[in-house]
Amino acid sequence: MKYFDAHNHLQSYPSDSEGDAAMAAAEAAGVEGMLVCGTSPADWGTVLELSLRYPGITPCFGLHPWFAAEEGWLDRLEEFLSRAPSCVGEIGLDGLKGLPGHEENFAAQLALAKKLKRPAVIHCVKSWGKLPELLRAARPPAFMLHAYGGAPEQTAELAALGAYFSFGPELADPKREKLRAALVAVPRGRLLLESEAPEKNVPGRPAGPAAVAAAAEAAADLLGLSEDELAGLTLGNAENFIREIQ
Ligand SMILES: [Zn+2]
Repeated sequence: MKYFDAHNHLQSYPSDSEGDAAMAAAEAAGVEGMLVCGTSPADWGTVLELSLRYPGITPCFGLHPWFAAEEGWLDRLEEFLSRAPSCVGEIGLDGLKGLPGHEENFAAQLALAKKLKRPAVIHCVKSWGKLPELLRAARPPAFMLHAYGGAPEQTAELAALGAYFSFGPELADPKREKLRAALVAVPRGRLLLESEAPEKNVPGRPAGPAAVAAAAEAAADLLGLSEDELAGLTLGNAENFIREIQ
């Protein structure tokens, strides 16, 4: 089976050897592509280097809502985006841990995504009322909501705006009822899977981007599809998402 990890931070492994080991395990598990997401100017260079080293990596550059904006960051971001076929991300709204000004930074990055015709990789926590408004104003060519945590009922509104929805291996947890209901509510052509490596390890499951296989297993179960069908569906969706890069 072939998988695509739609959201991780490969640059955040404590050492190169741990990152390389995670990539070897991912390859062995059938993960053939991934979006590796930067979070601030401090890691964009590493993300770019990784994408040159591993052909399956599509780099993403963005200022995450938890990180402070340094002088000149938006110009540097545009420069990084021009250096490789890439997405804008990880960017977003965070009503719990977002820094002051993060909403303006998010809007500026959505405008940049629109200007450069790049898909956006979006983090949204406790800001589900504000998000559609900002997306309607900016209209990026495509966007994905990583680790979708909104209501199942909001998926139709967001899908109409062009959203892709990404889910991780926590889908396997039967206590995550809202998350599992949201997965079922998402239009199948907009469904993506992610590991958020190196952070989200599920005990007893492979770690790193290979964990996307555990997300696929859980999603297939919830949707009544074979793992093969689910892997093919989400890989095709990821290819459509990346095709929006111009
Ligand atoms: Zn992330």
